Parts: sequence; C-alpha cells; structure tokens
Amino acid sequence: MKKDLTNHIVFEHDGSRVFISTHLGCESGCTYCYLPHQTSFEFDEEIVPAQVLFNQVINDKRYKQGQNGTLVSLGCYSEPFSKNSFTETVELIYAFLQQGNRVQIATKQCVSEDSLQAISDIQQYANQFVLLTSCAAITDNEKIEINAPPLAHRFENFDNCNKLGLMSGLMIKPFLENLTGNDVDAFIETIRQHSIKHVVVGDEFTTERNEEPVTYFLNSEFYRHDCLERQLFMKRLADHCNVYSGSKELMESLKSKKTKAQSMARRFIEKTE
Ligand code: SF4
Repeated sequence: MKKDLTNHIVFEHDGSRVFISTHLGCESGCTYCYLPHQTSFEFDEEIVPAQVLFNQVINDKRYKQGQNGTLVSLGCYSEPFSKNSFTETVELIYAFLQQGNRVQIATKQCVSEDSLQAISDIQQYANQFVLLTSCAAITDNEKIEINAPPLAHRFENFDNCNKLGLMSGLMIKPFLENLTGNDVDAFIETIRQHSIKHVVVGDEFTTERNEEPVTYFLNSEFYRHDCLERQLFMKRLADHCNVYSGSKELMESLKSKKTKAQSMARRFIEKTE
C-alpha cells in the first residue's frame, strides 16, 4: 500500500515554502516539545526514502523550482540529522540544491565538517543553504533538551560553517517565558564566541486559543504566544547580531541581501561596459 505522506510534506498554501519530514517524531526529548501534544498524526519512525519525498514534492503543483521558488525546510516534525534520517536528509539537500531552491534546516545535532563541506561544494549561489542550530536555553540546557547533544558540541556547527563560508544562525525556539530570557548574557557571549551573525527568536506554541494560529500545521491546534519578555530579549540581542522572529524572515533577508549584491554587481558591469 502506498504510504500516506500528508504529514511528511506540508506546503504553505501559496507554495512559498514546503516542510519535509523523513519521519514523524523526534528523539531529542525536549520537555517543551509540542509534537506529543498534536493530534493530527501518530509518531512513525519509518524513514521515507529521499527519492520518494523528492518526487512527490517536485510533482506537486504548488512547488516552484529555483532560487525564487519554494523554500525547502527539512524537518518540521522530526530531527533531520538524527542517526536514522541523516543519509536521507543529506540526499534531499543535494537534490533541492541542484534544483536551485533555497534549503533551510534547523537542528540540534552537530553536523560533521565533511558533510558541510560537501554541501558547500554543491551550493549554486551564496546563502542557498542555511543551517540553524537550535536551543531554547543555555543554563541547565541538559535538563530541558534531555537527549540532544551537549551545547558545546552543537555549537561547533557555527565554527564549521564559518570556516567553510556556509550561512548559519542560532535558532532560539521556543522562547520560554521565565527561562530563556534569564540567559540573555549567556546567549550574547555565545554569539560573540562563535561569531554568530543571525539569530531567530521563535515564539512559543500554545493550545490556548488566540488570534494567531500556527498556519503550517495541517489542522492547526496551536497558536503563537508572544510576551514582553521576548521582545526585550530580542532588543538586547539586536545590539550584537541580526535578530528575526522567524526563519522565513531570515531567509527573506538573506535573499534580498543577495539581490542587492547582484544588482550592485550589475551596476558595476554596466558602468564599465
Ligand atoms: S528537537 Fe524539536 S521536535 Fe525534537 S524533541 Fe526537541 S522540540 Fe521536539
């Protein structure tokens, strides 16, 4: 029987972004994780082959190929670089980079320098691939992200990406009230130590109904929760790096930087012709 991929491939309605999960569920064991609270699917550890996911996405009429096409985000309902899904994730990265699409990943795993080098080698343009490394707090991190690798190991991603010229960023998500904000100085120190240029501070998802549903969930059971503490935290970080409220906003900003660079190059060429 053909596998139902409804929850493995989730398009934003206008096709501007697609979330692809090789499997459903995550073993990082974060105490704040929203996945166990969703009801629209059961966890399923079976890894769907990259080729199957790729074919289904590129044959979907919402998919647009190329640099200005669909943003590909890997791992919405899973950890993309978990031991079992690593190979399929890397295959998907290669396949979509070759299509010219932009690819963005958020992970709590440390990605080896060799893997990042291979990705860097097939990038077609600057910032086509962006690796976000995530954590919700620094102090006592092991108490809330129980099975995820230690932060020191995770943060090697920043140094490796910097070395290889790959774009990376820190994903602080979700912002946990009365917890994440207490670490503001530790986050600033991390930003400094690892020369982090871009930070996303994501809001918390809650089941308490309010006006802002999380739109990329199929049957949205979650709503966005913002707070003054998060706004003040973002303001503090903004003195040290670029701060965004979502990964799509970051990707858009990097895209416009590229466009600006391209148009400057074009103006220079026109001037010298
Ligand atoms: S890494 Fe994300 S998906 Fe995995 S357990 Fe933690 S919050 Fe949940």
